[in-house]
Formats: sequence, structure tokens, C-alpha cells
Amino acid sequence: MSSISRTLIGFLLLLLAGACRAGGGSYEAELPPELTNSPDLCAHAPCKDVLPGAATFSPRMGRPSYVEGYAADGREAVGYVFLSTDIVDIPGYSGKPVVTLIGMDAKGLITGVKILKHSEPILLVGIPESELTKFCAQYIGRFVGSRIEVGKASSDEDTLGVDAISGATVTVIAENQLILRSGYEVAKQVGIVAVRPRPAAKFVAAAAPLSWEALLEEGSVQHIAVTQTQVGAEENGEPYIDLYFGYLNAPGVGVSVLGQDNYDRLLADLKPGEHAIFIVANGTGSFKGSGFVRGGIYDRIQVAQEVDSFTFRDTDYQNLYSVAAEGAPEFHEAGIFILRSAGFTAAFPWQLQLLANKVDEATGARAFVNFQQRYWLADRYFDGGRPAYHAPDPTWMRVWKAKRLEIAGLLLFLGVLAATYGQRERLARRATHKDKRWVMWPKYFFWTVSVFYIGFHAMAQPSVTQVLTWFHALVYEWRWELFLSDPFIFILWWFMFLTLLWWGRGLFCGWLCPYGALTELIYRSAGRLGLQRFQFLLPGRVHDRLKWVKYAVFAGLLGVSFYSMPLAERLAEVEPFKTTFLVGVFHRSWPFATFWAVLAFASAFTERPFCKYLCPLGAGLAIPSTFRLFGLKRKAECTSCAACAKGCGSLAIDTTGRIDQRECLLCLDCTVLYFDQSACPPLVKERKAREKAGLPLTAIGDDGYLLPLDGMKQALAAARMKPRPRAVTPT
Ligand code: SF4
Ligand code: SF4
Repeated sequence: MSSISRTLIGFLLLLLAGACRAGGGSYEAELPPELTNSPDLCAHAPCKDVLPGAATFSPRMGRPSYVEGYAADGREAVGYVFLSTDIVDIPGYSGKPVVTLIGMDAKGLITGVKILKHSEPILLVGIPESELTKFCAQYIGRFVGSRIEVGKASSDEDTLGVDAISGATVTVIAENQLILRSGYEVAKQVGIVAVRPRPAAKFVAAAAPLSWEALLEEGSVQHIAVTQTQVGAEENGEPYIDLYFGYLNAPGVGVSVLGQDNYDRLLADLKPGEHAIFIVANGTGSFKGSGFVRGGIYDRIQVAQEVDSFTFRDTDYQNLYSVAAEGAPEFHEAGIFILRSAGFTAAFPWQLQLLANKVDEATGARAFVNFQQRYWLADRYFDGGRPAYHAPDPTWMRVWKAKRLEIAGLLLFLGVLAATYGQRERLARRATHKDKRWVMWPKYFFWTVSVFYIGFHAMAQPSVTQVLTWFHALVYEWRWELFLSDPFIFILWWFMFLTLLWWGRGLFCGWLCPYGALTELIYRSAGRLGLQRFQFLLPGRVHDRLKWVKYAVFAGLLGVSFYSMPLAERLAEVEPFKTTFLVGVFHRSWPFATFWAVLAFASAFTERPFCKYLCPLGAGLAIPSTFRLFGLKRKAECTSCAACAKGCGSLAIDTTGRIDQRECLLCLDCTVLYFDQSACPPLVKERKAREKAGLPLTAIGDDGYLLPLDGMKQALAAARMKPRPRAVTPT
């Protein structure tokens, strides 16, 4: 191994050690398990920080749970403290919840918000804690029942706005939802806010009872299936739970499931505003829960309708001995649950949520996972059909709507980029080896927009952490919402994916990647300043070995991610992207700042050292580039002529003239040469031969040679070109 390789690898190890140490920040320290389990929440959480007026706190109470805070005299509750993960399951960008401790006074005004743990890649070792503290502080003094949106307040008078953290929009939208929804749930329980009544459904009389299959087919019985793997257990041939449920008040469903007599008895028991839901299941898991005690609450199931959720106490339970519908299988667990709230209506869609404990394979830690299924009775059960219902927009859609102008701008930019690259041969024909302005000017434009708009402004630098997230989503669970939640990243990845199949990674890496563009601008600016160029700093054989380092880094990160995603995310700091665009080099600790400075310094002298040797994202994109549909044009003589190879800044052309599509960044230098009759040796030879023979020079055809003299006019017309001006400069 050469000393250069050893130095590089040594430096990498130093950086990785720094990254791992940096991971010990307050947000990443493992939370004590007691925080989620112990009845005494405040013995393990800084409750006084979020409810400063309280001196003592009660044990966890209620469902979902919260604690009461008491003044020094201990007589009266001055407010409430609750842990977001006890109440809602709203994932952030990482797919994991942001664990947040929230305080609320006795009037429902938020008194404090403290993030205890998150796994958000963008914030993990990036955004300073002060930014999060500043974001959370915006909620203090606001009523939990207010409509608060991230970004500008909408035109609604009762909607307030809070400022987002630049580059972490998805995270803060999730955080906004979890603060407000947790607060609202607790405020409802303690009587600060009243449940908003919803209009009751009007049903038609029952028709003939339906079979089990017909009920399933029309959606009156819905299904939740959970595998052992989904709850972190070994597969054993049985599902964790195979659960069916339905709404019994509607005569058509109730009579089919219970039989006429049982249905009549049930309805006679129900008071106005009460709703009966049946749940039956098979599998190793239980929806009732083994730890259920008399007087307690069923903590594995709940019904959700928009922001409201409804739980069941033991008094809400009735036995269900069998399902009357013809063809219904046997179930080992069954029950009827009565939902007693005017806040619920069967007229609109709702969800049954099944909460299960999932064991993390790597750490053994337990976490709640939520499986849910939407339910809306078929049209024919309602008098007059299903009522009009406008579901609130999902979070990702709100983000897309809020950023529609920026999204349109990005799409336009990418469209212009693809169209420009599509015209590469026209541009290359206009340029010459000595004057590449026709190729370089568009690239300067794209690089500048990419660095300053996509990189610094939108903070949308794609990263290998997203590739890791997708691998995991493909293996475990694909959720479109996760990827739609950041429109810039979503659009950029689609663009990258499509252009990768078409042209290879070069269009992204060579023309669009904000960090790659920045290093190009550094390199070219340094050249203008007269700094020495070391384009071919490393001997060819050293380069040929070192270029594999980036593939090893990519494979290593992917492997580590299956052991521990947070560790892989920390190690992905080998990308200087966060330091450059998200956090800023002056906010980073010395290992990151030094790494960034070394790369920037090296980039001033040699073209894209990071892209050539280290970038795991570039490596991840390079692998499928092998199969791109359209490569660059080559001549037969390219196998022996090394002219292009000498100018290739990416060192992507080997001694046999073959372009390595994985390494090529589509700079177009070789394409310019290909069409340059003053620089491309076979073309020069042909031009000189014609000049010597006194024959006219013609335009250059797609094959990179002068067009034949016979039928020249037709050929020119077909190529829609004018003859090139004579270039007689000797080469
Ligand atoms: S190799 Fe990496 S840093 Fe370089 S342009 Fe490609 S993705 Fe960007
Ligand atoms: S000169 Fe090299 S990097 Fe540029 S387009 Fe040709 S092969 Fe690709």
C-alpha cells in the first residue's frame, strides 16, 4: 500500500472516530428505559424544565398518560407534563418518533417543550441544539387547542405560524403535530377542551345478512395483519396477529355479524351517541393484552378519527362468543367494544389502531409500533349515501402545497438541465478544445444555482443516508409518506434515478450535485487565480486503486446500517455535506472542520478529490451507472489514441480508450475533442488529407468524421447543420 493510501485511510479513521464521539450528544444518548415504563415519569425526565411553576409531580395517570404538577403547597395542580411518545406515534423524517417532553398549565397554555431524543439524520450531529431550543420556545404561551402551522400563518384568522428550522422542515412539521396533538389529548382528558361533537350517521334498515366473505369484500369488515418480524420476533409460521374488525351499529353489518337477536339486544343496551365495534383475531399476539386488569384500560387498541383518539375501559367491553356471518372462521380472541363519545361518528372515516411492542434486534430496546386500518362504511348503509367528507391533508401534502413555487422553480431548473444536456452534441460541436465556453457557461450556471439555491438555500443536498433509508424501507417497510415528506429531496432523487438510467451518474455528479459543483467552482476559481494545477496528482496505478475506496465506504455504511442505523448515519459524516450546507463549517467540531478544510484545500489544486476517492453517494450511484442506456460517442481510433484520456479530469478513460461509465462525470471534454477537427487526431488527419487533396471540408457527422462529399447537401440537411468554418490552425 502506498504512503498516500495509508495517509488517506489514516485520516478517514480519525474522522470516523470524531464522528462517533460527536454522536454522544444529548439527543443521541440512550434514554433510560424507566422513562417510558416507570410510573414516576418525573424521576427520569426534567419535568420542572417544562413546567417551571410546579414543585412536585404526581405519578403517571390517565390514558394516554400524563402527570400533574403541584405548586409548593402541594394542594392544587398548576399544570400537566406529558411525554409525546406516551400519546402519539408521529414519526419524523427518520421514521422514528422525536421523544418530546411537554408542559402545559391548567389553562391549556404550553409552558415548555424539551426534545429528549431524536434520530433525525439532518439534525443528528448537525443543527446546533440552540436551533431546536429556539424552535420549541415558539410554543411557550400558546394554547394547545390553537391551529399552529409551521411556516407562515395561513389566511385563517385562527391559524398561527411558527418559524421552521431551515433544512429540517419535515422534522419540525412532525414536531408541531406531536406537540399539538399530545397537548390536545391531555387537555381533553383533564377537561380543558371539550371534544368537538361530530354529526351522527343515519343508517338505512338492514337488508339480508351478508356472508363473511361479502362483508370483507365490501369493506364492512376490515383486516389488520401483523407478522412476527414486524414486532421484532422470530417467524414461527404463525402471524403475530390476524385481526378483523367492523362497526356494529349499522344494521346491515350488525345483523350479519351478530345475528338478529344479539344485534337487537346490543342496540337496546346502547345509549344515544354510543357505538359498538367488534374485534376478532387469531395469532400469537393479543389485542386485549395479557396484563389487562379490572378497572384498567385496553392499551393495545384505540380508535382514531382525525386528531381525536378514543380508548376503551373494562366497562366498555362485552363478550362476543361467535361470529354469525356465514363462512366466518373460528377466532381465538373476540370482543365487542363500546365507544362512548359524541366526538366520534361513523358517518366519516376512522381508524382502528393496534399498538404492539417491538423489540429492536440491535439494542433489545422495546418501542411501541402502531398498525392501523382505515374504516368507512359502504355507501349503501347510509341514508342518502356517504356524507361529503374532506379529509385533512396529510403532512407531506401540506409541505408540498406550502412549497409549490419553489417546487415549480426546481422542476423548471431540472427540465432546463436535462434539455441542455440533451443538446450536448450541439454544444460540443460549437466548442473547441481551446475554447469550451459553449459547454462551460451552461455548467457554470447549473453549478452556481445548485450550490447557492439547492445547497445553501434549500439545503437539499442528496446524501448516502437517504440511500440507506431506502434500502431499509425496501427490506422492512416502504412508506411513501416518508419519502414524500421532503419535496426537494424527493424530486431530486427521481431526477437522479431517471437520468442515471438514461445517461449514468455523470449528469447528477458532474452538473447538479451541490457539493460536487462547489468543489468544481473552487477548482476553477483557484485556476483563474493562477494556482498550480495538479490534475494528475496521483500516478495512474495509485488512482486506480484509490478509486475503489469510495465503493468500500459505501458497502461499509450499508452493512453497518443493518446493524445500527444511527451508527451508520454518524459514519456517513464522511460526506462533508452537512458541514458545508446544513450546519456550516464554523459550527462544527474540529474533526469535521479539519476534514472539510482539507478537502476544500485539495479541491483547489486537483479536480474533485472527494468525488474520485471517497464519496459513498457517488459510489452508490456509480454501480447502476454501468447499465445506463446512452453512453458517450467514441471512434474506432479511440482505442489507440490517448488524446481524450489526457484531458479527462475524472481519469475515467483507460489506456485502451474505454470510458469507465462509473467514473465519468459527463464533463464533455472528450465529446468536444471528438468533434474538434483541430484537436482530435483522427479528425485532424482526415482534415489535413482533404486539404492536401484540395477537397472541400465538410461539417462533422455524428460519427465524428467529416461528412462524405457525395450527397453532402442531403447529409447536412439531415443533420440540420451549417458547414463548420474552416479551422486551419495546425495541431
Ligand atoms: S461524487 Fe459525491 S460529492 Fe461528487 S458529485 Fe457525485 S455525489 Fe456529489
Ligand atoms: S472527459 Fe472523462 S469525465 Fe469527461 S465526459 Fe469524457 S470520459 Fe467523462
